[in-house]
Amino acid sequence: MDYFLTEQQIEMRNLAREIALKSVLPVRAELDEKEEFPWDLMKIFADAGFFSVFIPEEYEGLGGGSLDLCIVVEEISRICSGVAVSYAATALGTYPILLFGNDAQKRKYLPDIASGKKLTAFAITEAEAGSDAGATRTTAAKKDDGYVLNGTKQWITNGGEAEIYTVVAMTNPAKGARGASTFIVEKGTPGFTFGKKEKKLGIRSSATRELIFDNCFVPAENLLAKEGYGFITAMKTFDNTRPGIGAQAVGIAQGSLDEAVNYSRIRKQFGKPISSLQAIQHMLADMATQTEAARALVYHAARVIDSKAKNISKLSAMAKLFASDTAMKVTIDAVQVMGGYGYMKDYPVEKMMRDAKITQIYEGTNQIQRNVIALELIKEAAGRKG
Ligand SMILES: Cc1cc2nc3c(=O)[nH]c(=O)nc-3n(C[C@H](O)[C@H](O)[C@H](O)COP(=O)(O)OP(=O)(O)OC[C@H]3O[C@@H](n4cnc5c(N)ncnc54)[C@H](O)[C@@H]3O)c2cc1C
Repeated sequence: MDYFLTEQQIEMRNLAREIALKSVLPVRAELDEKEEFPWDLMKIFADAGFFSVFIPEEYEGLGGGSLDLCIVVEEISRICSGVAVSYAATALGTYPILLFGNDAQKRKYLPDIASGKKLTAFAITEAEAGSDAGATRTTAAKKDDGYVLNGTKQWITNGGEAEIYTVVAMTNPAKGARGASTFIVEKGTPGFTFGKKEKKLGIRSSATRELIFDNCFVPAENLLAKEGYGFITAMKTFDNTRPGIGAQAVGIAQGSLDEAVNYSRIRKQFGKPISSLQAIQHMLADMATQTEAARALVYHAARVIDSKAKNISKLSAMAKLFASDTAMKVTIDAVQVMGGYGYMKDYPVEKMMRDAKITQIYEGTNQIQRNVIALELIKEAAGRKG
């Protein structure tokens, strides 16, 4: 099915599917087992132009948007979402520059991102500041013609591997959430180092590290937007990138459904394939329906974002919420369809089940997505009355 995609989007999807099958499939189990960052694959993705799909043409990108990014993320996630998130985290790190960077910042950073020469990462989370991002402790104190950063960010995807980091720090801690600002920090800046690499349940080939700032001087030209815009930068970024997590989830769900359907045709019990059992057929039918519904919502949200609609928070949160809950359910059911074999590492669905879980947690847990959706509903209702 082509989902009313443009010719260019279909071409990109087919290319991503081909590369995922040819280059990602043979190495996914080993990357997962060894928790190895997929640098060879990042180079292949760079050559294929995947990093340029969401960058405007004037900054050497292909000029696509959210839907183009979602299509590539979905296809790679169908085979391995650990690899897909290593790719997609660059979009997360880049959106603050795309949305809030000035022309000089865009000219300096976007071409190298589009070419895949430099990966990026986005850092807001800290040990005491997860869902409650307002509790951020990392500070950025004004000094001479720049800022001095101090503090530690944790669980940063692409930490250590990326060259460019967009980092939220407090320029005015007394103002709480309104006292935060976002900075571009380059790897190699004195005072900027990396802490431990986390060992994880899923997406194990992706790198998740601490970022440590110890009197790290960042020039004023690296401030995005202006002082006090840190949380606006972060929230607007998430509004734009949450459908990407949805796409990751749709890819995982589709990948596990494909495996379950194929397996059900060859596995015989009681003298016939289990695919002939209505109990199995109904599970597969539900899994396929849920995956298709999730894809429809993710594509719709991405298209609305690409239309430059003003308020995208609710739809974007819905896409992430629904698709990630779907991925969790569908992958659990895929393991169930495959019985004990599904539980073994000889088949990929146990990995897909492990990988699905994170989509319900990062870029805001699904409880936070529900908070966002409810808040928007209440605001809309108040607006109607007023
Ligand atoms: C593998 C991985 C990669 C990550 N990558 C990045 C990254 O690249 N950059 C980055 O900045 N961060 C990253 N994160 C952090 C991630 O976004 C946070 O883990 C997430 O936002 C939740 O924060 P927390 O884990 O501290 O949970 P907590 O905030 O401690 O939440 C614990 C529980 O309480 C619930 N809860 C908390 N507050 C509320 C509320 N107000 N209403 C309802 N329920 C609530 C949560 O839903 C959750 O169930 C990553 C995390 C992981 C695990």
